[in-house]
Amino acid sequence: MRKQSKAIHGQLPRSQYNEHSSPLFLTSSFVFDDAEHGEMLFTEQKDGNIYSRFSNPNNSEFIEKMAMLEGVGDGFAFASGMAAIFGGIAAFLNNGDHIVASKALFGSSYQIITQILPRWGITHTFVGSDDPALWEGAIQDNTRMIFVETPSNPGLDLIDLEYLGALKKKYNLLLNVDNCFATPVLQNPVAFGADLVTHSATKLIDGQGRIIGGVVVGSEKVIAPVRFFARHTGPAMSPFNAWLLSKSLETLFVRVKAHCESAMALANALESNKHVEFVRYPFLPSHPQYELAKKQMKMGGAMVSFGPKGGARQAKQFINALEMLSLTSNLGDTRTIVTHPATTTHSKLSKEDREQVGITEGLLRISVGLEDVNDIIADIEQALEKSK
Ligand code: PLP
Repeated sequence: MRKQSKAIHGQLPRSQYNEHSSPLFLTSSFVFDDAEHGEMLFTEQKDGNIYSRFSNPNNSEFIEKMAMLEGVGDGFAFASGMAAIFGGIAAFLNNGDHIVASKALFGSSYQIITQILPRWGITHTFVGSDDPALWEGAIQDNTRMIFVETPSNPGLDLIDLEYLGALKKKYNLLLNVDNCFATPVLQNPVAFGADLVTHSATKLIDGQGRIIGGVVVGSEKVIAPVRFFARHTGPAMSPFNAWLLSKSLETLFVRVKAHCESAMALANALESNKHVEFVRYPFLPSHPQYELAKKQMKMGGAMVSFGPKGGARQAKQFINALEMLSLTSNLGDTRTIVTHPATTTHSKLSKEDREQVGITEGLLRISVGLEDVNDIIADIEQALEKSK
């Protein structure tokens, strides 16, 4: 079976009830067959469920599917994307280590690296995504990990994963990629040499705006310290969320393709709109990294960023003139969403830091949903006209 079919059929073995769809295991713990079985599970850490903070059949099903989709063998599911990002970093870095990260990062990832890691003596260097030579220059003797987001939120900058894969090999580093915007349908960082792939499952993995979740996948060897860290610190995903997310993966391929087709159509419509100053979309030929996008992504993704000609004033009036789009900070939902990153998701960054990664006061981020694309474009066009 190909990945799309495995995402549908890769489920738990049937129980004695012959269910077609996987059941939900809402249980805190699992019963041992006898005293020896319990001892064996704890001492030898053999396969088998002990306690849902460590593992649960629903979590295992979701993790196995995510690992399969990213082309690796193991993973751990977390309560949120941020718990996954923190777990994937904290499992590896020690006092005195250094992390190199892309400058264009989701706001909370930026806060972890700049505010939380320094409390444990972990230093960092940020690198702008557009100059590969800067990446090598940022590596120090104590660098242990490269952490990047590509495409970035919300500027849609890309980072050359093949280049980073070669760099991490040369310096024997861990390459950790936040693949949230692309999903495994569009981009597989492991194919370029990534060791860890991190997702906020809250976004396109769920795709329906219902739950918060995250996951880190990698080889069994790479995931072992992540599992140790998570088992003892307790940020596991709830089995209910894992059950829902595993179901969501059954429709991931068809959903992501539909999101991308509509996003491409919107990007084209915005580019020819007289009230629009600029449009960012990886698969638009005008994107400065269009060739790279074609090399490492299959389609352009669900996110489109743009700036109206009237800047910050028009951006706010545009939002207030929308009739169908939702004004909320989530993304990757069936419903099309507008976000003003400078005053919401990225408001904790200084104005200077925002501007360095292209988050101007006029920038708007659209998460293109699954409504009829004509309705999406019509609402955006009428709001641009009203706010001009
Ligand atoms: N990574 C990216 C790229 C995101 O956009 C987000 C949230 O918007 C996260 C991580 C954090 O995920 P969560 O909200 O599930 O903790």
